[in-house]
Amino acid sequence: MAAAFRLGLTGGIGSGKSTVARGLVQAGAALVDADAIARAVTAPGGAAIDPIATQFGNALITPEGALDREAMRQLVFTDASARERLEAIVHPLVSEQALRQAEAAQAPCVVFDIPLLAESRHWRQRVQRVWVVDCTVDTQVRRVVARSGLSRESVTQIVQAQASRLARLACADAVVWNNTDDLAALHVQLAALVGLNPGFGLSWRPA
Ligand code: ATP
Repeated sequence: MAAAFRLGLTGGIGSGKSTVARGLVQAGAALVDADAIARAVTAPGGAAIDPIATQFGNALITPEGALDREAMRQLVFTDASARERLEAIVHPLVSEQALRQAEAAQAPCVVFDIPLLAESRHWRQRVQRVWVVDCTVDTQVRRVVARSGLSRESVTQIVQAQASRLARLACADAVVWNNTDDLAALHVQLAALVGLNPGFGLSWRPA
C-alpha cells in the first residue's frame, strides 16, 4: 500500500478532537492518539518510567510503577523546569511510537490527534495538513466541567495554559467549527471536508 496521507488534528481541551477523530475513522482513517500513547508510556512498565525515576527519583513513581501525576503536578507548581524535563523524556517516546503506529497502519490516511500540535514545530513538520477543531472558550469550559466535575475556575486555568485559539487557527489548513453539541451538524462539515480533500483517500459513509 502507498504511504498513507498524514493529517494532523488539533484543538484545545474539550474542543471535540476525539469526536472529530471518531468521524474520520468511520470514513476510513487510522487514528494515532498522542494522549493515549503518553498515558501508555507513563503507565506501569511504560518506556518513560525508568528515565523518569532516574531524572526525578522514585518519589514520582506510584507503588504500582506508574508516573504519579498528582506528585508531578505539585512538583511542576514549585519547579518550573520540571515540566520541560518531563516533556524531554515523554515527547520523544510519544513521537517514536506515534510514527511507528502510523507506519503499521493499513489505511489511506492516518489522523494524528495531537493536542499540542500548535505548540510544536516537530509535529507540524511531520504531517501534510493540519485541521483545527475550534469552539469558544465558554464551550470548552462547559464541556470539560460537565465531563470532569472540575470547577469552572480550574478548567479556565487549564484552557489559558494552552495555546490560544488564534495561535492554533494560524496553523490551520482547515477549521472544523464545533461549537454546538450537535453530532449531525458536525458530520455534515466532515463530509464536506472529506469531499474537498480526495487526496486523503477517505469516503464519507452516512451513519
Ligand atoms: P480533550 O482535549 O479533553 O481530550 P476533545 O477535544 O477530544 O477533549 P471531545 O472529547 O471530543 O473533545 O469532546 C468533549 C465533550 O464534548 C465530549 O463529551 C463530547 O461527547 C462532546 N462533544 C464534542 N463535540 C460534540 C458534538 N459535535 N456533538 C455532541 N457532543 C459533542
